Amino acid sequence: MKILVINCGSSSLKYQLFDMDKEEVLAKGLVERIAIDGSRIEQETAKGEFELETAIPDHKKAVELVFEALTSPDHGVIKDLQEIDAVGHRVVHGGEKVTKSTIIDQDVLEAIQEVVPFSPLHNPANLQGIQACSSLLEGKPQVAVFDTAFHQTMPQENFVYPIPLSYYKEQGIRRYGFHGTSHNFITNRAAELLGKPVEEVNLISCHLGNGSSITAVKNGKSIMTSMGLTPLAGLPMGTRSGDLDPSIIIYMIKQLGMSPDEVDKVLNKESGVLGISGLSSDFRDLEKGAESGDENCQLALKIFHSRCRETIGAYATMMGGRIDAITFTGGIGENGSKDREVICDGLEIIGVKLDKEINNQRKPKEKVISAEDSAIKVMVIPTDEELMIARDTKRLVQGK
Ligand code: ADP
Repeated sequence: MKILVINCGSSSLKYQLFDMDKEEVLAKGLVERIAIDGSRIEQETAKGEFELETAIPDHKKAVELVFEALTSPDHGVIKDLQEIDAVGHRVVHGGEKVTKSTIIDQDVLEAIQEVVPFSPLHNPANLQGIQACSSLLEGKPQVAVFDTAFHQTMPQENFVYPIPLSYYKEQGIRRYGFHGTSHNFITNRAAELLGKPVEEVNLISCHLGNGSSITAVKNGKSIMTSMGLTPLAGLPMGTRSGDLDPSIIIYMIKQLGMSPDEVDKVLNKESGVLGISGLSSDFRDLEKGAESGDENCQLALKIFHSRCRETIGAYATMMGGRIDAITFTGGIGENGSKDREVICDGLEIIGVKLDKEINNQRKPKEKVISAEDSAIKVMVIPTDEELMIARDTKRLVQGK
């Protein structure tokens, strides 16, 4: 069975074609700068790399180019589009109505449309990707896999914000949480590595990348996560602020005369470790800066590490200390050995003891990095959201 996984951003489209009989990636690619000058597609297969710069005015054209690249006699991997059995789409926000991955029908499209105000950049792009595939691959099943779905198991006390309840009841303003496909993948993989049924696994799952979130997983289910109504909440990130005193926003508007769009730009694009360091959102740059004595880089890293530690500590308490493992994934979680070491330094109090030597080894990527006598295991598990989407798509189209 061949499954195409599509992840549409506002101006980009990432894709992977899987042969699900072997869970093998046949092709992977990226369309960039959709509706912007210099738009292009690149694709990687066993045959090599292919690149093309051409006008791509919308997501429909982007999907057409993906199909052309996949079926090209020179650099393609399939002869005909009919070889694609189903398409799995990453959808950012599913709101409250969607609690799991689902085959796309009119109701699902409406549910995705309904929460556009909570995800104004991503959900419209996701819808465009789905519509383009519907018209170009008529009759093939399409599945939506939501970033929010895994967190729909949170208890009410963890997702209702302490503002008048009518904001939740009437507007749907609540914590939804994101990175759910990744936290779900990690939970399943951790269960395998721990040799436990997934329903018995207790984790603190740290997805640390450009966007970062931490999730408390109890008995295989999300009970709390650091992102909120939108992916702006929680930890400080590359350019996003994470949690703040809400009065700061009121101050920006009232005292500084900023418009809602200006505040939005500052908090989403100019804050986080970029805002503090004034240098970069990339942790590799910050580490170099910090090593050469740049105090702003040092501060940015300290704030990030401290907030990660604070969140892990809070979630450990929430789970009554019954944790099998703390897991690290994402660009920083998988590669930032120094970041992992600093975050874990101070977590001895909840039973964490790192094996610093193993933590520092670059390979293998997937590994246990805690010491033999650590009460809680600490593991690095590379995430694979695309594979998770392909697995869910396969399962649903097989009627399981
Ligand atoms: P996204 O959230 O966009 O998927 P990634 O998970 O790919 O992002 O994470 C990207 C981030 O990973 C980069 O911005 C960089 O800060 C970080 N990163 C990559 N390699 C390293 C490394 N060796 N050490 C520390 N951080 C790293």
